[in-house]
Amino acid sequence: MPQLSRRAFASALPLGLLGGGLIGGVPAFAAAQNTAKTPLSVTPLAQIRIGRFTVTALTDGYADMPYDYFPGRSPAEVEQAAVAQFTARQSGVRFLFNQYLIDDGERRILIDAGAAGSIGQTGKLPQALATLGLQLDQIDAVIVTHMHQDHMGGLIAGGKNNYPKAELYIDRRDVKHWTDPAKRSGAPDYLQTSFQMADEVVRLYPKLQAIDGEREIVRGVSIVDLTGHTPGHIGVRIEDEGKTLIMVSDMVFPVVHPGATDVFFLFEQDRAAAKAMRDRFFPRAASEGALIAATHMPFPGLGRVVADRGQMRWEVADWALQD
Ligand SMILES: [Zn+2]
Repeated sequence: MPQLSRRAFASALPLGLLGGGLIGGVPAFAAAQNTAKTPLSVTPLAQIRIGRFTVTALTDGYADMPYDYFPGRSPAEVEQAAVAQFTARQSGVRFLFNQYLIDDGERRILIDAGAAGSIGQTGKLPQALATLGLQLDQIDAVIVTHMHQDHMGGLIAGGKNNYPKAELYIDRRDVKHWTDPAKRSGAPDYLQTSFQMADEVVRLYPKLQAIDGEREIVRGVSIVDLTGHTPGHIGVRIEDEGKTLIMVSDMVFPVVHPGATDVFFLFEQDRAAAKAMRDRFFPRAASEGALIAATHMPFPGLGRVVADRGQMRWEVADWALQD
């Protein structure tokens, strides 16, 4: 993919990302000001409970996506929308790369593995897990929502299997698509890294389980078919004791969604399919009031799709001190 501006990454972070705590004994606000030119050095965590599950939002980092990465709208229109949401940056729309760890007290299931340095300021996931006291070989399963580099890079960073004990779940349609030499040779440059990584994932993870359709991984954790963004794009529904969280990965991109469905992200090859899924999903999510976790929304990526006088918008959800 095109080089993203590195200058932009040095800009000051929102205080929320620093957790409002202390950094080296200095109040976060002062630290944020003093270190405005250095990259993020602490990784944020957020935890919520869904019945017997503890779900921890983690993040591998962030990158700014240029305003011309959103087909369906002109760069000026995307920038204008970002200005209206007070999130405009010179370098584009800031994407977080959030992952979610599901822990039921017996098993730890990670959803997505991050870009691991292949895009922007990423590669923080191992550090975030270490903050929880976890090494990568303590992860029992990884569900990869689709085979774009920012969701599977961490699986194979450094050319090795980084989750040696984990079962790996990926939709069969994505495994097929991203390991198909014909698809690879017909794909644009910015998708080549994903094709190359997909080959490596298949080679390094003999325990890969290709998923066909919707199924339960463990009791209360099931796969949701969200085909569109990629052929085998999936989400994960976590459900227990009447509470639900749906991790929807790249169903929702910041600034442009869910307000419209005829706007896309550059990586989406089949725009008709991407639009069809969002046309179905946004109204359903709004009527269910479903709590959603989305990879690229501002950390921790938790919110709801709300229908506001016919217009869909993203409503950020509380994420701390919840029972
Ligand atoms: Zn993504």
